[in-house]
Amino acid sequence: MTRKIIVWDMDEVITNTRDPICNILAPSIGVKTCWQNWKNSQEIYKELGHTNPADSIRLLIEHRIIETCKPENNAYETLKAATELGYTNIIVTARGWHPNPYDVSWAWLKEHNLSQFIYKLVVVPVFGQKFRALESIRFNLGEICLFVEDTYNNLLDTLVLSSFKVKNYALMDRPWNQNVDVRNLPITRIHDLLEIKSLLV
Ligand SMILES: [Mg+2]
Repeated sequence: MTRKIIVWDMDEVITNTRDPICNILAPSIGVKTCWQNWKNSQEIYKELGHTNPADSIRLLIEHRIIETCKPENNAYETLKAATELGYTNIIVTARGWHPNPYDVSWAWLKEHNLSQFIYKLVVVPVFGQKFRALESIRFNLGEICLFVEDTYNNLLDTLVLSSFKVKNYALMDRPWNQNVDVRNLPITRIHDLLEIKSLLV
């Protein structure tokens, strides 16, 4: 049986780390930042007043941001609906910067009752490319029907560089992807995870 696969990004798609970064981490180091003003999700370290990303990574780890963050609104409902419609949910995350990304992420999914909907969790290493992970999934597991991301470049890389076709792409609307025009691309901009349901027919 060929699986119908949905690939989900983790942070700012399934999780909300932006609120604890602004409300807990930044005040603890005397910085005021508001994610609504973030123009680039890859450069959070600049928002935190750092010149070296390693300083921000150390703080994210020390403050246990990915261990203690909350799920994104409607993550449970959406993953449950996708599962009930027969989709296989796979998370591909770029959390390779964390010393123990797989165990921490899986424990978080279990704690929030989401692991029951997740078939597999893939951690892409630092400087790794997500579309390569998707190629491996496509080759080994089945058809990728949908790829959900908040980082536009990960969608674009897959769209342009991968050797296979993903049926549908969804871009989670965030301040850092506002300058992207997806109208002529097979990418749907969504504002709430529940909108994913309309892409699953
Ligand atoms: Mg993300």
